[in-house]
Amino acid sequence: RTSYIEKAMKAQSHHQLNVLFLPYPTPGHMIPMVVTTRLFAKHGVSVTIITTQANALTFQKAIDVDFSCGYHIRTQVIPFPADQVGLPDGVENIKDSTTPEMLGQISHGILMLKDQFELLFQDLQPDCIVTDFCYPWTVESAAKLGIPRLFFYSSSYFSNCVSHSIRKHRPHESLVSDTHKFTIPGLPQRIEMTPPQVAEWERTKNETTGYFDAMFESETKSYGALYNSFHELESVYEQLHQSTLGIKSWTIGPVSSWVNKDDRQKANRGHKEDLELEPQWLNWLNSKQNESVLYVCFGSLMRLPHAQLVELAHGLEHSGHSFIWVIRKKDGNENEDSFLQEFEKKMKENKKGFIIWNWAPQLLILDHPAIGGMVTHCGWNSILESVSAGLPMITWPMFAEQFYNEKLLVDVLKIGVPVGAKENKFWTSLGEDAAVGREEIVKVVVLLMGSSQESKEMRKRARKLSDAAKRTIEEGGHSYNNLTQLIDELKSLKISM
Ligand code: UDP
Repeated sequence: RTSYIEKAMKAQSHHQLNVLFLPYPTPGHMIPMVVTTRLFAKHGVSVTIITTQANALTFQKAIDVDFSCGYHIRTQVIPFPADQVGLPDGVENIKDSTTPEMLGQISHGILMLKDQFELLFQDLQPDCIVTDFCYPWTVESAAKLGIPRLFFYSSSYFSNCVSHSIRKHRPHESLVSDTHKFTIPGLPQRIEMTPPQVAEWERTKNETTGYFDAMFESETKSYGALYNSFHELESVYEQLHQSTLGIKSWTIGPVSSWVNKDDRQKANRGHKEDLELEPQWLNWLNSKQNESVLYVCFGSLMRLPHAQLVELAHGLEHSGHSFIWVIRKKDGNENEDSFLQEFEKKMKENKKGFIIWNWAPQLLILDHPAIGGMVTHCGWNSILESVSAGLPMITWPMFAEQFYNEKLLVDVLKIGVPVGAKENKFWTSLGEDAAVGREEIVKVVVLLMGSSQESKEMRKRARKLSDAAKRTIEEGGHSYNNLTQLIDELKSLKISM
């Protein structure tokens, strides 16, 4: 005999949308996807995140809180093949690699998870899967199950449009020299770049080119795409992307400020350890005037060569402005350790600078009134977080599509000052030299943090975008409407299936 409760639960599960989320284990992809999962749960969807143990630890507390509030949200943990790829336990995220070899081992371990993922798709029988763009094979998994796959892209529409144009037209190949600029074909605005700024796998065909081609091709074969961006930020490129690719996309960002409302959530987002109650950086920032401090961070992955750290240290010191600098260290460089320790000590004494090692609570820091700008590597999440906080940026792109994002900030939105980075390289293939000298650093810091008309106008534009970022996620805003429309569409699709 079926009880009343069982019947009611069956009826509910029949109507309730059940969505699986598959994030790629690197903070720039995982953080926004976990937040998106929570957003779906808060809008009545039953959601499951699939990941490995060490990765789950970076966000599980937030999931537990949501669950205890009555949302249908859970994490499904699968084992990471640490032994098989020769890694110590707990090293399961791209950001954990401190050597190029480790990077290869972690990536290989992630690839090996495919069979376990597919088995879970079959077991859990979702109505839809939302998968990171790094898992192109999930298009076929969804087709086998007869359900939609949504492509989750963790960067801008703008960068995807540029990337699409470069892959299609290969404009950089017609130039005689690497210092000549080319114009990106097919964009509504004139955007110029030099060949070395193009992503490595797009500039010349190499072993990863095919992998990336498959990722982007999988977008066109998906039911649609999810973009953590917002209409008011890049509507022209949202439209261009939709008309070029001919698939649906939903613009639902900035997801982070939509979900991480209180300080505790902001502080502990994306990180295993809890933040101390009265962190030193907070006391230090509280002692500073409004908008007087520059926040310097190159994302979750980048590790700078020693010579570049030295140039940056001198540049920051000589700029005369206060700063908080997040440094991710490399293994075993004693020379570097002693230089940085000395520098940290000096900055503490003269109260000019504060160093945070390895991981900073970025959302909290950017929200602090003493922060007046950010030096960013142009990772998309950092850009959205800086824009949400209404801060202009010094742009210092390093790898992947970051040079494209720089163009959006500098040429389109006009809220960025370029430091003059010239070459697209991940930290594992960087040489020993400094790419940017201390004089250039001083120049851009003085320009951004000073009181010039140019800086005031950038600040004004950044504040306007911050207001738009707040409105778009409120009831009736573009992103809000897009999310609810998507959920309604997936529900009617479920009923019709
Ligand atoms: N992040 C952070 N603390 C750090 C470094 C990074 O909270 O010390 C977060 C940052 O706020 C952002 C993400 O990690 O949400 C990094 O993503 P992004 O796209 O900016 O760059 P990536 O790390 O992918 O290069």
